Amino acid sequence: MSVITNPPQVSTASAARAEGLSKFYGTGESAIPALDDVTVGLGEGQFTAIMGPSGSGKSTLLHMLAGLDRPSAGEVYLGDTEITALNDKALTLLRRDRIGFIFQSFNLLPTMTAGENIVLPMRIAGRKPDDHWVASIVETVGLTDRLSHRPSELSGGQQQRVAAARALASKPQIIFADEPTGALDSKSGAELLAFLRKAVTELGQTVVMVTHDPTAASHADRVVFLADGHIVDEMHAATADEVLDYMKHLGA
Ligand code: ADP
Ligand code: MG
Repeated sequence: MSVITNPPQVSTASAARAEGLSKFYGTGESAIPALDDVTVGLGEGQFTAIMGPSGSGKSTLLHMLAGLDRPSAGEVYLGDTEITALNDKALTLLRRDRIGFIFQSFNLLPTMTAGENIVLPMRIAGRKPDDHWVASIVETVGLTDRLSHRPSELSGGQQQRVAAARALASKPQIIFADEPTGALDSKSGAELLAFLRKAVTELGQTVVMVTHDPTAASHADRVVFLADGHIVDEMHAATADEVLDYMKHLGA
């Protein structure tokens, strides 16, 4: 029995969407469909979690949505822009200017302070950071007294919060996170998730997070379930137990 019954139809605009998205690795007989005809919209101002068993295609979907890799078939839109129609140069600029990323490994520059890391992408892009916005992010993420520290002087949880602040600094249209709590202890993970939640609720950001952790997914407004490269179901405002039960049903 599925626990999903008539999910509420939230009529939000899509910050990003995929139409008939497929990705095959390899060619011919040995081609592996990592994603198979996925159509999904990601609501603006929403926190969406993408869940599924290992190998179900979560990272592949996220990478296609974020323009980090190209699909074998189908289209991806960021707002009204079809990013799958862009050439590499235009796609690189779009990623830089309109998309934020948080990876499992924090990807901070070790020689720079936390504060410098946060605004580095904007400096590289030749854009002036909005000091008020950056200060509000830094405060929300609880890093105000850590800005002059280098990554090696920070805990893993603090480093990931720097990475999260960096992702938000340029006010991207959408933030993608792939297992952002995967390398964190549970307390640091909870702090990061609370920050992502606040980024959506208080700062109006759009966040899409891949996770295999039901507790992480329970912070999201919407949980989309992937299995074998297909979207198989979704839940809204789900508890960790509800997500866990559904994962068991998926055989994860
Ligand atoms: P998840 O993030 O849900 O664990 P992935 O999106 O990483 O899943 O992978 C989905 C499927 O695609 C898996 O079967 C995986 O082995 C395969 N896959 C992913 N990346 C590659 C790649 N670069 N080359 C070949 N197969 C890949
Ligand atoms: Mg993955």
